[in-house]
Amino acid sequence: MSVIAYVETWEGKFKKTSFETAAYAAHVAREMATDAVAVVINATDDPSQLGNYGISKVYSASDAGDFNNYTWANTIVAAAKESDANGIVISGTFGGKMIAGVTAVAFDGALVSNISEKPSSVSPMVVRRSAFSSKGFVDYEVKSDRFILSIIPNGIGVPQPESNAAEVVSIDAVTGDSPSVEVKEVDRVKGQIPLPEAELVVSAGRGLKDPGNWNLIEDLADALGASTACSKPVSDMGWRPHSEHVGQTGIAINPNLYIAIGISGAIQHLAGVSASNKIVVINSDPEAPFFKAADYGIVGDAFEVVPKLTEAVKTLKANQ
Ligand SMILES: Cc1cc2nc3c(=O)[nH]c(=O)nc-3n(C[C@H](O)[C@H](O)[C@H](O)COP(=O)(O)OP(=O)(O)OC[C@H]3O[C@@H](n4cnc5c(N)ncnc54)[C@H](O)[C@@H]3O)c2cc1C
Repeated sequence: MSVIAYVETWEGKFKKTSFETAAYAAHVAREMATDAVAVVINATDDPSQLGNYGISKVYSASDAGDFNNYTWANTIVAAAKESDANGIVISGTFGGKMIAGVTAVAFDGALVSNISEKPSSVSPMVVRRSAFSSKGFVDYEVKSDRFILSIIPNGIGVPQPESNAAEVVSIDAVTGDSPSVEVKEVDRVKGQIPLPEAELVVSAGRGLKDPGNWNLIEDLADALGASTACSKPVSDMGWRPHSEHVGQTGIAINPNLYIAIGISGAIQHLAGVSASNKIVVINSDPEAPFFKAADYGIVGDAFEVVPKLTEAVKTLKANQ
């Protein structure tokens, strides 16, 4: 028996959520007194480093071609069968969401998605998922022998790495025609990490007053290596592209750090960003609702605060 993590990569490289998924699977496996293994697809980073997060063995498929949810799901399930796994852990990233359902069907297991905490019990498996745009929680008890747990990216965190190397075993990707979906074209946003995958996001709202002022936001984002986002009115007015609109009717994100500048914090905006690990709010109005959801708040004029923050980040990075 084992628990297997599907450890996702971005252009072949591990990301923070990769290690979070590995560590979560290792925790579940420990609680179940069994082994934690992992499967990686098209990884160029060394898979043995997943041993640092409690993984003993990694099944590595390097010939999977372009992303196809059936190829990915079937390869994950092949590795699960190889390791005699009765549980799969997947991160609820954009790619993870695309494959979780197909994987559950191929694995014949019960899928619980949007998981925000470690299981409160593993026998029976009881996990808490977030609901209603993180306004409520639901505790699920898994009745099936097999489970697929899809965790909220950056929702649980990554423990301190240890110093262990996992055994790496090459496997073949399970390619073949997808029954109903074919990826025709992949058109990637260039220059910045897509918002659903971003660890750091600098976002701005109507408080910026004019699209010509966005250089402030871009400068801070560049200094941090962050992606940029915006509130709905900002994209509705054409100040920024719709691909940057976050919230209930936009993209839901869960970065490690979300910096909201000149955004009031309307409930529809919060619906898409409140799963962020840390929220920093910069607003000139001390009564702005966003401060209630913030971990850190700066009451001040964005036009004064943001350039100082950018300079401070640049200085810090220069001295690292
Ligand atoms: C069905 C529905 C769905 C919606 N979906 C979304 C959604 O997905 N995403 C979304 O964002 N909104 C959504 N909205 C709109 C939402 O209700 C708010 O109207 C919107 O989020 C407000 O955008 P804002 O904060 O940029 O602007 P405002 O509400 O105008 O707030 C601007 C903020 O900037 C601050 N400010 C002004 N000047 C400065 C300065 N110099 N320095 C610092 N701060 C300053 C102000 O104090 C204020 O708090 C939706 C609304 C509806 C009805």
